Amino acid sequence: MRILLLGKNGQVGSELKHTLAQLGDLTALDSTGKDDVCGDLADLDGLRHAVRFLKPDVLVNAAAYNAVDKAETEKELAHLINAIAPQVMAEEMSRLGGWLVHYSTDYVFDGSGNRPWQETDTASPLNYYGQTKLAGEKAIKEVNCKHLILRTSWVYGVKGDNFAKTMLQLARDRKLMSVIDDQVGAPTGAQLLSDMTAHAISHAMKLRELSGIYHLTAAGQTTWYEYARYVIEQARNGGVELQVTDIKPIPTSAYPTPTRRPLNSRLDTGKFQKTFSCTLPGWQDGVSTLVDQIIGE
Ligand code: NDP
Repeated sequence: MRILLLGKNGQVGSELKHTLAQLGDLTALDSTGKDDVCGDLADLDGLRHAVRFLKPDVLVNAAAYNAVDKAETEKELAHLINAIAPQVMAEEMSRLGGWLVHYSTDYVFDGSGNRPWQETDTASPLNYYGQTKLAGEKAIKEVNCKHLILRTSWVYGVKGDNFAKTMLQLARDRKLMSVIDDQVGAPTGAQLLSDMTAHAISHAMKLRELSGIYHLTAAGQTTWYEYARYVIEQARNGGVELQVTDIKPIPTSAYPTPTRRPLNSRLDTGKFQKTFSCTLPGWQDGVSTLVDQIIGE
């Protein structure tokens, strides 16, 4: 099986680079490409040529324009990368008769209510980033190549910055911390996403009817405040000395950002678990491992 991975250096892409190599013959590209093969999603002709040249059986798109606040002012670029490029990928994979695996987000929903969102619920993004991600989903569905669109939430990777590292740094430096307590979701590790993507690809390859949208996150739910407390508790259990004595829960309104974010990011993952016969681990599992890794660095 020939696999093309785009966005190999992102949080999810970095994990997929290793996981997908075990599944088949992998070409992994970042935006600079390789050997004259384009990996830049903003270069639509280059992207078409890359897919035509490599002829993958599966194209996994881990690249995205993810700067949620900046997307409000860089609309054209965000739309190009999150909506038009996936459409081009879908058209090319349709010609080849192969699969397109693409990631989307809880930000396609407006965050109302407190029930976990199902795949069939109406999407209604609060911000431009969410609109571009929804447009990407719609374009893929319209082209109707074989596809797995995996909507996820609150992704963290081990490399680079992540929420846990930021909280631990603050807890080292300060006695008092304030963390948002009215946004609910499931922190999901890039490693889990990568493993589950490979698992789903293996299942789906022979079954066209599995094509569709799936919600894929770690199990359970939490708020940023509870997530921060958990990280700090795990670090203390691991022997890390932290200054913080008071962690204060605050509403989103007390921490204004240029862009509205959904309060309810719960995603119902029942369809994914049932279709692909698997059980997703609780969010605490991956976060504990992450904290151990941060402490060990
Ligand atoms: P990252 O931001 O870590 O990685 C995105 C990658 O896309 C980066 O490597 C970036 O490369 C690359 N990229 C950006 N522009 C281009 C371009 N023009 N051509 C090629 N590559 C480009 O994202 P994640 O791994 O966190 O996200 C993976 C998927 O999951 C995305 O679809 C995202 O929308 C979705 N998602 C993420 C969430 C999160 O919390 N992070 C939550 C919900 C969904 P470079 O760094 O060189 O610019």
